[in-house]
Amino acid sequence: MGRAVAKERVRSRLRKNDNVEVISGRDSGKRGRVLQIIPAGNRVLVQGVCFVKKHTKPNPQRNIKGGILEREAPLSASKLMIICGECGKRTRIGFKRLADGRKVRTCRHCEGVLDK
Ligand SMILES: [Zn+2]
Repeated sequence: MGRAVAKERVRSRLRKNDNVEVISGRDSGKRGRVLQIIPAGNRVLVQGVCFVKKHTKPNPQRNIKGGILEREAPLSASKLMIICGECGKRTRIGFKRLADGRKVRTCRHCEGVLDK
C-alpha cells in the first residue's frame, strides 16, 4: 500500500457542524457538534465533549485572566459516529450520487441524506 493511498483512506468522513456521538472512551455516549476537523492525526474537535483543564497564565495585553480553563480537546475521529438528522440514530456513512450529480453522504439506516 502506498503512503499517499493510506493517508487518503484514513481521512475523516466527518465535516464541520456535523452532529456526532462518542462511541468509546471516557465521554462515550455524549453528543455534540463538530467545531473543527484537524487533519493531522485524523482528529476532531467536538463541542461539549472531552473537556480538559488547561492552566493559563494571565496576559493583560490580550485581556486573558490566569487560572484554570476548561476547554474541549480533540478526539480521534475513530471514536465518533455521525448522528442522522432524519432518524436520530448514530450511523456509519454511505455515499450516493444525486440526480443533479452531487455526491452526498447518507445514513445507513434510513438512507437519509446527511448533507443539507
Ligand atoms: Zn437515518
